[in-house]
Amino acid sequence: MTWKQYSAAVCLFLAAQATPATMAQRGAAPSITDPIMTLVGRLDLERYKATIKGLTQFGDRRQGTDRNRAAIDWIEAQLKSYGCTNTERLKYDYPAAAASATAAPAPSGSSGPVRMRGVRGPIGVNTDPLKQPDLKLRGLNTQPTAPGPREEVYCTKIGTTRPNEMYILGAHMDGHGWGEAANDDGSGTALVMELARILSAADVETERSIRFILWNNEETGLNGSRAYVAQRAALQGKEDPPGSGKYPEPKWLGMIQHDMMLFDHGMPRSDGTMSKEQRPEADVNIEFQMNSKLAAESQALAWAFEQANEKYASDYPASVGSHMSNTDSFPFQEEVPAISLRENERIAHIGAGWDPQWHQPTDVFATYSDKDFRLGLNAAQTTLGAVAQLAGAKLRK
Ligand SMILES: [Zn+2]
Repeated sequence: MTWKQYSAAVCLFLAAQATPATMAQRGAAPSITDPIMTLVGRLDLERYKATIKGLTQFGDRRQGTDRNRAAIDWIEAQLKSYGCTNTERLKYDYPAAAASATAAPAPSGSSGPVRMRGVRGPIGVNTDPLKQPDLKLRGLNTQPTAPGPREEVYCTKIGTTRPNEMYILGAHMDGHGWGEAANDDGSGTALVMELARILSAADVETERSIRFILWNNEETGLNGSRAYVAQRAALQGKEDPPGSGKYPEPKWLGMIQHDMMLFDHGMPRSDGTMSKEQRPEADVNIEFQMNSKLAAESQALAWAFEQANEKYASDYPASVGSHMSNTDSFPFQEEVPAISLRENERIAHIGAGWDPQWHQPTDVFATYSDKDFRLGLNAAQTTLGAVAQLAGAKLRK
């Protein structure tokens, strides 16, 4: 598809959402004959929580450690058990020079100034093991990172009629800060894994392909996603071997990143305290980058996701913003429509201290309530609804 055709397709999608019949149905229970509603109904809060919990057994999963490598092996075994059996590993090197540069701010993909408003809280990365009161977890996180070879795992749902085109669903599996990286980014990793499970079911087929990828080295400056773009952009859409019907790198139609999905308790109060509960008006923040070559196409993709949220998400709405930043969709934004989904806007909210667990020892499973986990589940409903529609998902009879 050319970009024009892509935009046209997304516009058609939006137009279909806006028909009077659909408008009238909005707010009512969607038709039970909608196969996408059936798929979304297969998402389950307890399963999503169990997948996050499973990831936390590897502590903060810091890149370049045994606990990070063990987490990748575990993720791969889960993907295979879901029926996403064609797992592969992207290999790249994270050299000593890059590792020693992490003391300085890593190039992480911020573009353009964002206006900051209101009360701001502290931000930063905890590097002090003594701030982790749980001695078992402190021990688990003790091995330091070492430079060297790195891997990240992905698997692919192959499209039936357009196997040569794909959407990429991503999240980063590495973390840091001496906690369990439960929210950043166990919550996004589990979301992508749950969608791999649902879309790999034996009775599901999609016209286009969908790749599920769990990036490594996000926290050091997006090194894993940069390596993927560097190694694989030129392979897009090539049949290999010729005549085989196999496309090792289908043409990219969209890149959708999920990064910190749980915690939207609002702005810090003027005395520095935070609401203990998820705010009832919590939302899923869908961001594109206005200062990118494909801003118009990325924006169209963002609105398609917002419309899917209206139709398929059970509790929390979505908001679209124009400052996608500091996550693995950034290396893609000049190549393909790219968006990120988060609990809050990355710069104006998270960058202003709205998530006190961010990169801290408190980012552990036990910190979050079901209202927090449910925001992540609503993001999963949003992405599943949107990508099932865009990729042409059907249930086999
Ligand atoms: Zn993150």
